[in-house]
Amino acid sequence: MKYDSIVAGAGFSGATIARKLAEAGKKVLVCERRKQVSGNMYDEYDENGILVQKYGPHIFHTNSDAVWQFVCRFSAMKEYRLKCSAEIDGKMVPSPFNFTAIDLLYDKEDGTRIKTQLQKEYGDRKAVTIVEMLNSSNAVVRSYAEMLFEKDYRPYTAKQWGLKPEEIDVSVLNRVPVLLDDRDTFFNFTYEALPEKGYTEMFHNMLDHPNITTILETDAIPRLRLDAANKKLYWDDSIFTGDFVFTGAIDELSGYKYGKLPYRALWFDYKTLPADRYIGHTPIAVYPQREGYTRITEYKWLQQQHAEGITKIATEYPLTYVKGDEKAGEPYYPVISDANTGLYRKYKEDLSVFDRLYLCGRLAEYKYYNMDDVIVRAFEVADEIINGDEK
Ligand code: FAD
Repeated sequence: MKYDSIVAGAGFSGATIARKLAEAGKKVLVCERRKQVSGNMYDEYDENGILVQKYGPHIFHTNSDAVWQFVCRFSAMKEYRLKCSAEIDGKMVPSPFNFTAIDLLYDKEDGTRIKTQLQKEYGDRKAVTIVEMLNSSNAVVRSYAEMLFEKDYRPYTAKQWGLKPEEIDVSVLNRVPVLLDDRDTFFNFTYEALPEKGYTEMFHNMLDHPNITTILETDAIPRLRLDAANKKLYWDDSIFTGDFVFTGAIDELSGYKYGKLPYRALWFDYKTLPADRYIGHTPIAVYPQREGYTRITEYKWLQQQHAEGITKIATEYPLTYVKGDEKAGEPYYPVISDANTGLYRKYKEDLSVFDRLYLCGRLAEYKYYNMDDVIVRAFEVADEIINGDEK
């Protein structure tokens, strides 16, 4: 066996760990199931030269200098402050909802009253959660919140998670704030950017190191055997005593022995249209009141690309993940609940007997991670491996 470490999966978790271990002098094998590296950040140019992100729109954002400096080593980053809109009763308004949205959704008198009451209720605060507003003792604030809840938060969340409205958890509702000024950018991070030539090029650069060998279209699970009784790990039928980092789905790794961990899947309907713009002023729009789909991304405008008289859109349909299904066969979002977290812990506990098996990333840890979170987590795992070696 010529490798010190094997990493299953070449998304941000796997590629970051592989790079860190390689730079610490380890020989690393990266084994990726798909035809390409980059995990869910994979992007490619279509026939009209528009860069399209195959697994949904990804905007890089972080407040961490260390994460920012790390990604900048592998790609020039172009500052990009995302703007989004929401279609409410046929009108396009800024999302997250801000004071401009109030002006567009109400007449002047009602709009002024709502803004005045919001300022009175929340003072200097720049954002509030919908749940806080729904529980407000101020009737004007509450009535505005109820309108947003009925027309946006409730139908959007129910579609996204496949839930009945009464099953929706407040933590999910609180993810998108309501803004108390005219700010119209979606995020509010120190660094918000896109890789100038796309994520795929960035990943190729990350994995381009003399100590890294990457193999594609190779599922790690059939090549791996876990002998829990003897605490031994086999790769291609030989005992492997190096570090094994797994970034795929933990239940799949364990043969689903306690049952499947549920995921939401997404299906994207791509269309090339003979128009310069489809959505309007923003590259992403959400459609809470439309049947079946939640959002549309217009890739040409996400990357500010030149494509005369042509645009490309991806309409996003949330589905229940079903392994092997043509449309719903890719696990996207873990469905966090007490029962599912309990199931995850059982799998994790079983695997904890293997000293040098590391789990990292959104599938292996059954967590919703943003890209920067997963890089931070990958730094921790890489440090644990490297420092463990020094002990
Ligand atoms: P992944 O990217 O899924 O990579 C895992 C890799 O492992 C995959 O390539 C997979 O093929 C491979 N693999 C799995 N099993 C095996 C196996 N058995 N053998 C070999 N290989 C295997 N985050 C942001 O910060 N900003 C955003 O704007 C943003 N937008 C998002 C939009 C959508 C629609 C979604 C779903 C997520 C978004 N995220 C965003 C989150 C981001 O996608 C994750 O943070 C990121 O994918 C986590 O990387 P990962 O390496 O853990 O997982």
